[in-house]
Amino acid sequence: MATPKAATAPMKVAQVTKPGGDFQIVEREIPTPVAGEVRIKVQACGICHSDVLTKEGAWPGIQYPRVPGHEVAGIVDDVGAGVSEWKKGQRVGVGWHGGHDGTCLSCRRGDFRNCQNLKIPGISYDGGYQQYMVAPANALVAIPDSLNDVDAAPLLCAGITTYNALRHSGALPGDLVAVQGIGGLGHLGIQLANKFGYKVAAVGRGSENAALAKKLGATVYIDSKSTNAAEELRKLGGAQVILATAPSSKAMSELIDGLGPNGKLMVIGATFDPIEVTPIQLISGSRTIQGWAAGTPADSEDTLRFAELSGVRPMIETFPLEKAAEGYERMISGNAQFRVVLTM
Ligand SMILES: [Zn+2]
Ligand SMILES: [Zn+2]
Repeated sequence: MATPKAATAPMKVAQVTKPGGDFQIVEREIPTPVAGEVRIKVQACGICHSDVLTKEGAWPGIQYPRVPGHEVAGIVDDVGAGVSEWKKGQRVGVGWHGGHDGTCLSCRRGDFRNCQNLKIPGISYDGGYQQYMVAPANALVAIPDSLNDVDAAPLLCAGITTYNALRHSGALPGDLVAVQGIGGLGHLGIQLANKFGYKVAAVGRGSENAALAKKLGATVYIDSKSTNAAEELRKLGGAQVILATAPSSKAMSELIDGLGPNGKLMVIGATFDPIEVTPIQLISGSRTIQGWAAGTPADSEDTLRFAELSGVRPMIETFPLEKAAEGYERMISGNAQFRVVLTM
């Protein structure tokens, strides 16, 4: 009697069938990679706030049912035709950058991060809330041996976003850098800013995270509930960079006056609400506001290597894949300490 091939065996998947729908745990056939693709046996997948785009259908053009997840760590399980750079058994990840076309004007300029046809796992195709996933080979990130899967996964979105935003912010060693929000992004931002040699001011609402912020590497903690945080930053000379991580446009707007001369508000906390700023606020002190989205797989590898070198790690809570709904609720509640990671 013929035994079924591994490639056609069922696997568990956490999918959303419509915008606003609940998570369903279902069985599917294990997908087969086509030319240029790699199949990954998923070991861990972080739950990111941006998964709300898939869950609630806030991103245009999502086809349902869809499996969310763009913080994937796993092992190469099979490679499609024409893939020579990745081998079966290799530890890899996939982050927000889920593949570029290599042919659009941005790609031809080498700006793969801004590919006009950028694919995002969990949005453009099924992501990491499943036991096996297929991704384009040019989306893959090599994971160093010293990083375990559950730590590597959040570094592929939360980690790279904070790391890349900070390293491109223009702040120099010794500069005052404020990190707004002590959550999934912010707790990494504080650690990274400290390791980059900045004077770090952590800005949070309430005093409960003060001790933790200092433990993570903040020099100063500013409670934006009980003080005027912008004024506190000005007392320290004004921030060269404010890394805005908490998805609150109001909180970001309130901090702009805390920027020093030539200071920059670097926005990575994603919301749809407008940031409010007057031209006078920008003109006086020549301040700028800039957004930053993740980065390329090569940037992700830089992030992982820096984490390996510096000891920066995410603080995580793990949930099994079967409890994806619970894990997602935990992330949405804002009470997770600090990244939720699904294990397969
Ligand atoms: Zn993300
Ligand atoms: Zn492109």
